[in-house]
Amino acid sequence: MDAIRDLIEYVANDIGGLAATLFPFALLGLIGLYLLWLVIGYLRVSQVGINAESAVLPTLQLPKAPDGAIEAARGVVYCPTDGIAYPAGAVYCTVCESDLLASCANCGASIRAADESCYRCGTRDTLIAAAR
Ligand SMILES: [Zn+2]
Ligand SMILES: [Zn+2]
Repeated sequence: MDAIRDLIEYVANDIGGLAATLFPFALLGLIGLYLLWLVIGYLRVSQVGINAESAVLPTLQLPKAPDGAIEAARGVVYCPTDGIAYPAGAVYCTVCESDLLASCANCGASIRAADESCYRCGTRDTLIAAAR
């Protein structure tokens, strides 16, 4: 029985020493995960923006191409100066107060958001989610 007890004590002490050895590494791992979380959070905020996830703000900053061109999907109302997408029904930019533009949802022609119909194809459904 002494042999078994010695074995148990040996295992217990050995595992205790192992835990003491690994503890700093586990702590480093946790700190590393925390730093990773901070980096990912920073990248998400800097690339996407906090406003993108806010349901209260109706506007959305559009991604800009490297040459500065603003790419807006068809039927989306946007400001050509600031590159901000607005919900259907918006007419003026809240930042620079200029007329908002939109690509005709039917033919893709650039029209003013305030226009009732498209000058090229004549459709009245110029916006995908028209709130009229
Ligand atoms: Zn604007
Ligand atoms: Zn059209």
